[in-house]
Amino acid sequence: MNIFEKITALAKRRGFIYPGSEIYGGLAGTWDYGPLGVELKRNIKNEFWRSMVQMRDDVVGIDAAIIMNPKVWEASGHLASFSDPLVECKKCHKRFRLDEIANSKFEASHSKQIQNTDITKCCPECGGEITEPKQFNLMVETYLGVVEGEKTKTYLRGEITQGVHVNFKNVISSTRVKIPFGVAQIGKAFRNEITPGEFTFRSREFEQMELQFYTKPEEKESMQWFEYWKEERRKWYLSLGMREENLRFFEHPKEKLAHYARAAFDVEYNAEGDWKEMEGIHHRGDWDLKQHQTFSKQDLSYFDEEKKERYFPWIIETSGGVDRATLFFLMDAYREELITNNKQPTTEEKEETRIVLKLHPKLAPYKAAVFPLLANKPQLVDLAKSIYSDLKKEFSVTWDERGNIGKRYRAQDEAGTPFCITIDFESLESKDVTVRDRDTMEQVRIPIDALQDFLESKLK
Ligand code: ATP
Repeated sequence: MNIFEKITALAKRRGFIYPGSEIYGGLAGTWDYGPLGVELKRNIKNEFWRSMVQMRDDVVGIDAAIIMNPKVWEASGHLASFSDPLVECKKCHKRFRLDEIANSKFEASHSKQIQNTDITKCCPECGGEITEPKQFNLMVETYLGVVEGEKTKTYLRGEITQGVHVNFKNVISSTRVKIPFGVAQIGKAFRNEITPGEFTFRSREFEQMELQFYTKPEEKESMQWFEYWKEERRKWYLSLGMREENLRFFEHPKEKLAHYARAAFDVEYNAEGDWKEMEGIHHRGDWDLKQHQTFSKQDLSYFDEEKKERYFPWIIETSGGVDRATLFFLMDAYREELITNNKQPTTEEKEETRIVLKLHPKLAPYKAAVFPLLANKPQLVDLAKSIYSDLKKEFSVTWDERGNIGKRYRAQDEAGTPFCITIDFESLESKDVTVRDRDTMEQVRIPIDALQDFLESKLK
């Protein structure tokens, strides 16, 4: 099994992510987040918001509508050019994105920029001849209105970016922001991807977390911000435990950039040797605001009070996929470890391979699991329940009383729970409990009234 298959299986088994509409045979490119997945994804979004909005004086947040006036997509160029070249096999009739059968590694991971690629003219599945490429628009159409025949065709947003730029004036006039400043947003986006796949990596419905940062229209200053945000975003992934060797930047060659872009880098994740785009850092120049000014006929320029001058700011964008981050945090945390008895002070865990998710405690769906040693001893259960309800007020914690302790540890290892707290007979006397560490598997006794502080300190 490759890492995508392993994560897909674990995600389903433990309730992180299920295939969308599964009982009806599924719907390609859609996924449902289960009880653990919703916590993990929410923790990722909360950490993004904390670092990008809460901790900063120069960034504010927004939550724009998913459905926008269709003119937005004319202005942004999505209706004309948001497309992937598509080819079809004349023999087996399977469809592929042109980049999927293109030669070079660069083409293979940066589809939207290729036009005149030298491709092999064979179907990768059956070797049949393939058709000439056709442009395939990725925007998902929808219709608003109640009367048949009078419905307005519109779109589910293909990216969350435009919701920020169309509110540029609103944000400036309703807050005290001054250039340089940014607007962050997290939300769903939709794309009719031709070939959804590799688990959630390429979905048709997905979430993005973005920053649009407005700078003075000056080369040096805007590039300094570009470099700053590039580094900030890398540091953010590292601060949440992603391993440095699994992250790199990929620079888009100048000749492959969108016509308005001045620079673009991808933050890539190493999925067992296959480097995949996780986030894009883009210097968008003044393209978006100027386009929206032309199409809306509203003045979207900025008046700089200090310089007493009017201009269109330049935009530095950081655009990450929440689902891709979730997937790669899971991948990065995934370990198969051989455990032996000599590493293990007790006999509860026999020699075997364990699967463990070494998620950063801030991201872990549950911070701790609480177990009464035996489910049929009311004294133990009562004490465990009271510890559990106390901790619940402050942390996301879970309860388990099924099977033996070894099995419960295994289940929490796969859920990525950093600590397991067991209440045993000794606890009734000495008022302390066994706390087992997910990563080292070491067990220590901790007084019950110190548990809260203990968990608090581990979450910092
Ligand atoms: P790709 O080349 O992989 O299609 P992109 O360059 O089109 O991606 P952007 O338009 O820059 O992606 O979107 C920003 C981020 O949104 C990406 O880095 C990725 O994390 C996320 N994203 C884009 N498309 C998808 C998708 N179909 N499924 C999940 N996440 C996506």
